[in-house]
Amino acid sequence: MWQEVQNLIKTSGNRVKADSSLLEQLLEPDFAYEFAIPVYMDNGKIKVFKGFRVQHNNWKGPYKGGIRFHTGVNLDEVKMLSGLMTLKNSLVDLPFGGAKGGVVVDPHTLSERELELLSRGYVDKVYNFIGPDKDVPAPDVNTNPKILGWMQDEYERITQKKEFSAFTGKPIEFGGSYGREEATGFGGVVVLKALIDQLDLFKNKDKISIAVQGYGNVGYYFAKFAVDEGFKVVSVADSRGYIYVEQGIDPVATLNCKREKGSVAGCYCVGSVCDLKFGKNITAEEFFSLDVDVLVPAALENAINESNMQNIKAKIIVEMANSALTKSALDYLTSNGKIIVPGILANSGGVIGSYFEWVQGRSGYWWSKDKVLTGIEEKLVKAVSYTAEYMLKSNLSLVESCYDLAVKNLIRARKSFR
Ligand code: NAD
Repeated sequence: MWQEVQNLIKTSGNRVKADSSLLEQLLEPDFAYEFAIPVYMDNGKIKVFKGFRVQHNNWKGPYKGGIRFHTGVNLDEVKMLSGLMTLKNSLVDLPFGGAKGGVVVDPHTLSERELELLSRGYVDKVYNFIGPDKDVPAPDVNTNPKILGWMQDEYERITQKKEFSAFTGKPIEFGGSYGREEATGFGGVVVLKALIDQLDLFKNKDKISIAVQGYGNVGYYFAKFAVDEGFKVVSVADSRGYIYVEQGIDPVATLNCKREKGSVAGCYCVGSVCDLKFGKNITAEEFFSLDVDVLVPAALENAINESNMQNIKAKIIVEMANSALTKSALDYLTSNGKIIVPGILANSGGVIGSYFEWVQGRSGYWWSKDKVLTGIEEKLVKAVSYTAEYMLKSNLSLVESCYDLAVKNLIRARKSFR
């Protein structure tokens, strides 16, 4: 996975004629830490978890990127995600570099006490090389404001000072920001709308249909804001199942039902038993073959791959999960005329929200949700505008245009004082 990102950087770097010695520096992370986190489990025994933090590049500002708790976490994946963070922050012009972290764990198997000790244990290992001016972690898959609150508290306990901006994605009551929770999904819809307008993608803009894979933080808010904006979300999915609702889902009712039943798949009609009307369960294969206008992978990486790429009918694919398309799926779908919105643009609303949280923490003045969301929208509309302009001028794909601009901005930042 990391090699694929290295290749993307190399290809873009060569295309934009980047200084080769600077380009070479982007092909390896600045630092890659791998460590053991011992936790006193409820059974009285110590269990050791494996943790990672990779700091890819900080030319534009402090390293920045989330921490993931998942059994699939490994060094290759964390390096890949840290490189994508550098490119994302550069593309949308934030004063941040790129980093990522993770722990190999299924957090659902831990008690609340064990989860807190693991979160604090992670900080005990990394506190020396993170901080508001060095590296600012955030939530990612299976980490949430509560976990980030424990991490922030542990950091402040060790360093013996209040540092509101050491972490982002914290609880509102503990230095978090209004709007951060919905920022990524909200931003994805802003990007989609702006692209549809700028590239004039649909003749009839009424009831553009959307399928969303993943109904966690990103998938839910994407679906919610999409419906608020007049799109029709006809299919959603979580790790336990996929549903299709021809009339379009009600995102809030679906979320409430998922909370109660444990999965969106339990929410619609099974035989004659219906909690929400008109829907049906479908398979993953059927999901990726749906005749929809927009497909939104918002779960984990490599969701769109050799096994399903040939069935995809959607005109636009909005990569809300980082690296949701494998390289061969990306090449295949691009050559078949699909518009792929790469994660470094599509999901960048999240890190823009984090940036605003960091700014608020440093100034000690907190903004309204409206101000945060308006700020995210402004930055994203601007990013879509210069990316679309570059794309039309250069005759490249949207993905190539995003990577070229990200690499260009980075090199420009480094060269500006040399
Ligand atoms: P989350 O843990 O809140 O939700 C993940 C969702 O994906 C869950 O609903 C889960 O059931 C579902 N899922 C997992 N495996 C699945 C499968 N095989 N089929 C269908 N659904 C499946 O995570 P999140 O915060 O929503 O993040 C989702 C993705 O977006 C991740 O790749 C993450 O890196 C990326 N991302 C998140 C943010 C953010 O702010 N949260 C920002 C940028 C990128």
